[in-house]
Amino acid sequence: MAPPTTYHTSLLTALDCRGHIHLIIGSSPLAASRAANSLAAGAKPILIAPASATELHYAVSAHVATGSLTHLDRPFKDEDLFTLGRSETGGIVDAVFVTSPRDALAQGVSDVCKQHRIPVNVVDAPALCSFSLLSSHVDGPLQIGVTTNGRGCKLASRIRREVAAALPAGLGSACARLGEMRRRVVDEDRGARRQVARGAQGSDDQGDGVENEGVDDSVDQTASFNKLVTDADADAAKTRRMRWLAQVCEYWPLKRLAAVTDGDVEAILNSYQTTDSSALHNGTLSHEPVSITVPTTGRIILAGSGPGHPDLLTQATYKAIQAADLVLADKLVPSGVLDLIPRRTPVSIARKFPGNADRAQEELLEQALDGVRAGKTVLRLKQGDPFVYGRGGEEVTFFRSHGLGERVTVLPGITSSLSAPLFAGIPVTQRDVSDQMLICTGTGKKGNPPAPPEYVESRTVVFLMALHRIVGLVSELTSYIAEEDGSDELQQQREKLWPLHTPCAVVERASCPDQRIIRTTLRHVADAVEQEGSRPPGLLVVGRACEALYTPEPGCSWTVEDGGFKGLDLDFTSSTCFRVHPTSGKDHTT
Ligand code: SAH
Repeated sequence: MAPPTTYHTSLLTALDCRGHIHLIIGSSPLAASRAANSLAAGAKPILIAPASATELHYAVSAHVATGSLTHLDRPFKDEDLFTLGRSETGGIVDAVFVTSPRDALAQGVSDVCKQHRIPVNVVDAPALCSFSLLSSHVDGPLQIGVTTNGRGCKLASRIRREVAAALPAGLGSACARLGEMRRRVVDEDRGARRQVARGAQGSDDQGDGVENEGVDDSVDQTASFNKLVTDADADAAKTRRMRWLAQVCEYWPLKRLAAVTDGDVEAILNSYQTTDSSALHNGTLSHEPVSITVPTTGRIILAGSGPGHPDLLTQATYKAIQAADLVLADKLVPSGVLDLIPRRTPVSIARKFPGNADRAQEELLEQALDGVRAGKTVLRLKQGDPFVYGRGGEEVTFFRSHGLGERVTVLPGITSSLSAPLFAGIPVTQRDVSDQMLICTGTGKKGNPPAPPEYVESRTVVFLMALHRIVGLVSELTSYIAEEDGSDELQQQREKLWPLHTPCAVVERASCPDQRIIRTTLRHVADAVEQEGSRPPGLLVVGRACEALYTPEPGCSWTVEDGGFKGLDLDFTSSTCFRVHPTSGKDHTT
């Protein structure tokens, strides 16, 4: 039989049991835990069980010994329900727990209780209960209760444990701190408004209800929660601190909320302190939230975002993006990845314009330092892998030199130097084709050309940051240096040079929607780049591996595949735009 699509659910409540009298009938081991529950909620439990019938559980005896639990050493009588309670309730007890379902009394106790609307719970007998207890997690004033409505307490307990484990440590104390802060804001705002009201001979304005939210945890934010507040809005100014507090509770990541300290609370309260009622009345209260200093939790995550496609992020980097308080991204980090950053998280993108790279890097590092010192989780998001031509190592050194080495975590990313060849169908190593690969930069420090890698027939070389000076690079790889002479040296040089017929490929914007691949040889690659133009970022792959899975078009100097990235699509039906360039040098489209 298919399960019903709607289920009976209970009204979950939080009962204030302080001073209540709870009757616990029977002395099974469960009596001890019921007594503990009652005591934790501030009630006064009374255990009714003849000690002679069964041994009292040692935990029950312990409560009895301390006087927190009253033990009546006799059988239960119906009249106990109406005589043992508080005087405020005319002697009627506040709740009854029967600790054994096999207790012959269970049915009768349940009937009488239900008749007189005394809440009753009989263990393992849902039909006899008028209420059940939740599997609950307690952390300071924070309680989380789970019920499956009779579908199994073990399952409820497991769910409760998982929920509790997912919460950041310290959330209970954060509730206490934020609650205290809320109380003080309410008191102070109310006092200030009274002054204003007296000055203006008006009535005590209750604001728009933001401060009245409180005792009932079942409410969501009101529709006006996000209403636009302007500086000139005098009414809103009166509840500004309260609004700010409400927004902190709504938007801050739980982890950050959990890290709130007493000092932060004071800082927030003081920053809004005003005894000047006219300022309050005129809406000139400061509304900038103060920066919260949580120096013990600040950290920096240096993460690689992969070559471009967001599906190529690692789970770790994805989690870091979600958890960050501040994202400092490199200019090359693709928009598909930036789109994953939650809207609440501030993002700075390095202003690495030509001629400004070093300054931009310094700016970003300073921002990172400020963030970490302010207790933030700062994510330095880099393109590809952070340690592959990403200045990642330099950044780690920088943070170490500022005493923050312990706070730095580096997460790898899929580097373009490996993935771009792959997406172009180039296996960087393959038996009998290529047994080694080399990753090089085409641009050295201060723009100087680095030493070209030697020719090794079975080597695949990937050049990053090279396409803007492709003419120079090809010449360094393939030409003799004119000044050198002497036959031995010439011979050695010749051996180190790459033959002009060496296959190569230019892979641009690998894994992006506008990915493009130009396949050619060292002889034509500079012309190809010149004619086809550039689509940065791009790299050059050189070596026989470029033709391991690809057979060149006869008579063509180069071919262009300009169909965008399909590498992660399961639908391979869409065709790739494929252009070949004949050896004659004329552009030709097929
Ligand atoms: N840390 C990066 C490399 C940074 S250097 C990584 O591991 O990928 C920047 C160079 O990387 C660019 O000049 C370009 O050569 C190469 N590059 C980065 N992303 C690329 C992409 N999607 N397609 C092709 N080349 C890319």
